[in-house]
Amino acid sequence: MSADPDCLFCKIVAGEVPAEVVHATEGTVAFRDINPQAPLHVLVVPRTHAPNAAASAEVDPAQFAEIATAARAVATAEGYDDYRLVFNTGAGVGQTVFHTHCHVLAGRPLTWPPG
Ligand code: IMP
Repeated sequence: MSADPDCLFCKIVAGEVPAEVVHATEGTVAFRDINPQAPLHVLVVPRTHAPNAAASAEVDPAQFAEIATAARAVATAEGYDDYRLVFNTGAGVGQTVFHTHCHVLAGRPLTWPPG
């Protein structure tokens, strides 16, 4: 499915819902998280709708790989060499928006294991 009319992130990709877009490529859009958990907190999403990372990797592997490159570009542009990428996959681990998204987090110490 290329877009889901009921999906918030599809609407952001289409420009129908406002977002602070910081980076865009042929296959991805990156915008600031509305509830940032770090000084840099951007979500990189594939333009093609899929509910989670595993589904995106299956539907369009090239576009999925583009997410990692876009994430690095976002971090670099904001001056961060070190950053954390997170794909919450499933409601049980906190996924709340079911369009694949990669959290790009940087700018404060991040502990491991995560909470
Ligand atoms: P999840 O919990 O991994 O699914 O992450 C969803 C993220 O989307 C959360 O960090 C939310 O703060 C973020 N979010 C929800 N709605 C919006 C929005 O309209 N613009 C930007 N970020 C959003």
